[in-house]
Amino acid sequence: MSHAAPSVGTVHLVGAGPGDPDLLTLRAARLVMNAAVIVHDGLVEPAILGMAKPSARLISVAKSRARHTVPQDGINAILIREALAGHDVVRLKGGDPFVFGRGGEEAEACRAAGVPVAVVPGISAAMGAAAAAQIPLTHRDAASVVSFVAGQCRSDGSGGLTKQNWSGLAGKGRTLVIYMGVATAEAIAEKLIADGLAPQMPIAVVENATRADMRVLRGPIAGLAALVARHKVKSPALIIIGEVAARDEVELRTFALEVAK
Ligand code: SAH
Repeated sequence: MSHAAPSVGTVHLVGAGPGDPDLLTLRAARLVMNAAVIVHDGLVEPAILGMAKPSARLISVAKSRARHTVPQDGINAILIREALAGHDVVRLKGGDPFVFGRGGEEAEACRAAGVPVAVVPGISAAMGAAAAAQIPLTHRDAASVVSFVAGQCRSDGSGGLTKQNWSGLAGKGRTLVIYMGVATAEAIAEKLIADGLAPQMPIAVVENATRADMRVLRGPIAGLAALVARHKVKSPALIIIGEVAARDEVELRTFALEVAK
């Protein structure tokens, strides 16, 4: 009796959103609930992993800035190995897989190995933080451009902060959202101000957005480093820079004035 080679499984690159399990898409939730194999990052909430079947095989490839548990090549190899063994794989990532999620690299590696890939978008941290902190990323009176940048660069030394060209990304009428910027907050503020950003430009730091322990801290860009140090801000956190960051405060003040009349 001959055994047919197992058919190749599909790797689903799935966005798990910023934390709150209610912010999964229906497609992501269905995939997690039905998965036989889940390969996940450290940013994925335990409550989301808890939705998997008891029989599901959970493979953690948690990464942190200081501690690389599984290097990217190793992650690619796991995805390809599982798919070639015939398993559909749910590759679960924080936020959206294609926003600072290395989803592009994993998709390329899978395709090169003949493994089909499907991508399920997720709510990226910027959208989660904006909603939870009620900071509109655009506003007809305050911003018509939004940029997402990474505050920390590849650890192989291929690009330090000084090499990034951020000119024109922050300022009047523009919102700049910085991912992975807590450790380099001081350098970021100095660089933006040196590039001409007003020292008083409002910023908000949103830590653990959409989670029970979320914190929103505000101040001017000139005080960013001190704010991060004073409140001992830890990753994951986003820095939102622009007039929108003070928008709800303006509205709350106006509201209070009207109520007081
Ligand atoms: N793919 C993810 C981003 C991964 S990079 C996405 O689309 O959101 C990791 C960075 O994302 C963190 O350093 C932090 O800047 C940001 N981040 C992820 N989850 C977050 C959260 N719940 N609150 C604030 N920032 C978060």
